[in-house]
Amino acid sequence: MCHLTGWSRDPWIFGAYSAALPDHHALKEDLARPLGPRVHCAGEATVGDDFATAHGAWNSRLRAAGAMVRALGGAAGAGGAAAAS
Ligand SMILES: Cc1cc2nc3c(=O)[nH]c(=O)nc-3n(C[C@H](O)[C@H](O)[C@H](O)COP(=O)(O)OP(=O)(O)OC[C@H]3O[C@@H](n4cnc5c(N)ncnc54)[C@H](O)[C@@H]3O)c2cc1C
Repeated sequence: MCHLTGWSRDPWIFGAYSAALPDHHALKEDLARPLGPRVHCAGEATVGDDFATAHGAWNSRLRAAGAMVRALGGAAGAGGAAAAS
């Protein structure tokens, strides 16, 4: 028996994970760049090395959350510091 998935059409998912075109891997850095001081992007598509993974998505949220805290004048905690390294 065969079961086909349609991750990009599933209304609870809308996708699976990113895949850069050949020679366009560096564009992921653009996705990670904040859109002004208040809008920060996270998700597996925004990480250079661990894209398409759960831990890549996790680390990206640490980076984005740390950047938001710093933008608000606070000191990022251990999670933000880990993401920055
Ligand atoms: C079948 C499968 C197996 C996988 N296996 C592994 C594995 O073994 N190990 C591993 O590390 N990774 C695995 N992955 C990859 C991992 O699941 C993803 O890299 C990770 O979930 C990405 O997290 P994210 O937060 O970036 O995006 P997502 O988890 O995709 O979260 C994005 C969210 O945004 C929502 N969304 C989309 N569009 C809109 C919109 N317009 N408005 C509002 N909400 C919207 C979606 O519904 C979704 O909830 C697998 C993925 C798939 C599909």
